[in-house]
Amino acid sequence: MGQIQLNQVSKSFGKVEVIPPLDLTIEDGEFVVFVGPSGCGKSTLLRLIAGLEDVSGGHVLIDGRDATETVPARRGLAMVFQSYALYPHMSVRKNIAFPLRMAGMDKAEQDRRVENAASVLNLTDYLDRRPGQLSGGQRQRVAIGRAIVREPAAFLFDEPLSNLDAALRVGMRLEISELHKRLKTTMIYVTHDQVEAMTMADKIVVLQAGVIEQVGSPLELYQRPRNVFVAGFIGSPK
Ligand code: ADP
Ligand code: MG
Repeated sequence: MGQIQLNQVSKSFGKVEVIPPLDLTIEDGEFVVFVGPSGCGKSTLLRLIAGLEDVSGGHVLIDGRDATETVPARRGLAMVFQSYALYPHMSVRKNIAFPLRMAGMDKAEQDRRVENAASVLNLTDYLDRRPGQLSGGQRQRVAIGRAIVREPAAFLFDEPLSNLDAALRVGMRLEISELHKRLKTTMIYVTHDQVEAMTMADKIVVLQAGVIEQVGSPLELYQRPRNVFVAGFIGSPK
């Protein structure tokens, strides 16, 4: 399961309200992209869902349960950080197993999950290497592997490809889409890149200054943008 509901969720930093109260429902298994210009509140919204920031108002419901009263580790969501968040001194195997080791999981079960994730991500031959001995794309896969082993209800990605070069970015985009088809797990993907949004999403959430301008499929947004902002943003890939 992985339905995520935001009910009147808002966020202020001090006196500045960066996200006025908003409602949003993400269905189980959907690939949802939050897109909008830099500073519009994409990361903040993702962090509110993950529990890495406390909401100023409203509630986050995960499969109908109020997550705002649950510590982040118990929400069953896995945030995929950029590949540079890997531990350089640990092997790929240890990096992937890290959240399981922290949770005190049985070693045999840890191994089973790591082998599984490695096979899904084509990393089986690299498990004993260190991150420094891998390509950028492989490092990004290790970061994703660390999320997969937790068997989360949803994956949360915050601009995971922004530090990869353009060619690699296209490949990784496809890989993440393939992964979604395979796992059928809810994914929320944050980007400021319209092309990523249009090619990856089942549903796009367009944000401007913390406000949802429109929610819809790539085709709906392209054919029936609700306003000039959406039309301009979706219609003019960089
Ligand atoms: P995006 O990810 O879309 O670029 P962010 O969610 O990072 O945008 O930021 C949204 C707004 O909230 C920005 O104006 C940013 O400066 C502000 N902001 C984000 N985090 C903090 C923080 N910890 N303290 C104060 N302001 C913040
Ligand atoms: Mg951001």
